[in-house]
Parts: sequence; structure tokens; C-alpha cells
Amino acid sequence: MKNIPKKHRRLSLDEKFKFSCHKGLHCFITCCNDINIFLTPYDVLRMRRAAGLSSGEFLKRYTIALLGDEGLPLVVLKMIEDENKSCPFVMPDGCRIYEDRPWSCRMYPIFPASSKEEGFLIEEKPSCLGSKEEKQWTIEEWKKDEGIYIYDKMNESYKEITFNDYFQSNKLDSGRAKMLYNACYDIDEFKKFIFETRFFDIYDVENEVIEKIKEDEEELLSFGYGWIRFNLFSEDTLKLKDKEMDSLLRSKREEGIKPCY
Ligand code: SF4
Ligand code: SF4
Repeated sequence: MKNIPKKHRRLSLDEKFKFSCHKGLHCFITCCNDINIFLTPYDVLRMRRAAGLSSGEFLKRYTIALLGDEGLPLVVLKMIEDENKSCPFVMPDGCRIYEDRPWSCRMYPIFPASSKEEGFLIEEKPSCLGSKEEKQWTIEEWKKDEGIYIYDKMNESYKEITFNDYFQSNKLDSGRAKMLYNACYDIDEFKKFIFETRFFDIYDVENEVIEKIKEDEEELLSFGYGWIRFNLFSEDTLKLKDKEMDSLLRSKREEGIKPCY
């Protein structure tokens, strides 16, 4: 239990916790201000859809993007510059994008103990009256109720990129950092890139997949992850149209040689 601040308690998987957040509580919406909310690509996809904006406009208006040590993007929700530093989506009657609120807002008051181990902590703040309510949940029940499983699935694919061993010895240059940011976060820009350039002359993508990524943003995001893995980690996630080049890359992969793109 070391390194766990006192207000966080470890929960076992079958342990129940009390929580209910609803209008009528004195604390209602007081927690939706002055907070750091890191956004995953899937958070941004859902939030910008709810806001009815292009990904570029959403990112510009509502986020701050920083670069981590490895050149990976850190995208944070930008609070309004009012006296409370309010979340731009908080309204007197609740969250304006409730159905598409980000992962960390859904998970609250529980969160993973760390990115490397299974296990959860619960935050128990006296100011949050939700934990004084009678309704009880296991972690599984909570995740189901809050619609977290689709977020976990999409976020896991992103985690497989950001936790790749590649970053133990490589830092992205600005071109690759931009490539990763666009494919993961600025999905409209990525869509333009693949549909308005010679992308499909270079990559051998089945028509069925092309049709799917044209219509379905979740599919497009997953396709973007595959494209990043192909380009950064030399994984076998895409095929090239140039058969000679494709088999050369394959044999290099088998020999464990990472080509330089
Ligand atoms: S119960 Fe907790 S999470 Fe809900 S509004 Fe109050 S402080 Fe926020
Ligand atoms: S996104 Fe919604 S739930 Fe999350 S802090 Fe903002 S208003 Fe609150």
C-alpha cells in the first residue's frame, strides 16, 4: 500500500463501494472545475462528436497538447478562464456531453492503481457526497453502468502503442510526433490524409476496410493505430502494394531488422 495517498483506498475486485452522483446533492457539479483531465484519442473522438465539431476545431478550442519526453502527445482538457476554472462542458444541470464524457469522468471515484498492474483505488473525499449514498457497486457493475468497457477496449489499443518498447530507446522527431498526433487525435486530418493523397496507391487495403473507415470513426481510429504500428514499430499491420518492397520488409522483420522509413 505504499505510495498511496490516504484519501485513496485499494478495492478488491469483488468488494462493493457506495456511490451515487445525482442532482440534488450539495456537491453537484462542484467537482467539474479546476481539474486535470488527460484525454485519450477515444475520449476526443467521442467528445468532439458530441460537441458537433471537427477534430481540429475541438482540439484547438478545448484542449492543450503537450509533448512528453518520448515525443508522445499529452492532451489535456482546457478549463475556462473564469474564477472557478470550470470545465467548458459543465452546465447548472450537469455535464453537457454526459453520454460522451471522458473516461476519467466516467470512472470517478475509482481509478486503476497503476498502468502496469490490475487493481483499483477509490478516492474518498469528504467533499464528494456521492460516497455517503446507499447505492453499492462492484467495480464490474460500475464499469458496466458507466459504459466504460468500450473506452477500455479502445484505450488498450492506444496503450499498446504508447507502452511499446520502441520508446525505451527512441524519441519521436517532430515529423513522427505530428504523424502520431494526427492519426490518434486529429482524426479528420488523418482521414483527409488517407483519402486525399496516394495513400491507397501505396498501401494494399481491402475495399471492405476502405468502406468501413470511410463511415465509421472507431474503425478509422483503429486503422490509424495499425498504420502507426507499421511505420514506427515495423509491425505486420499493413501491406504495401509494391510486392517487392513488401516482401523485402517482411524478410527484414523476420530477421529482426527494423527498416528506416
Ligand atoms: S457526488 Fe462527487 S462526483 Fe458527484 S457531483 Fe458530487 S463531488 Fe462530484
Ligand atoms: S466533461 Fe462533463 S463530467 Fe467531465 S468534468 Fe467536464 S462537465 Fe464534468
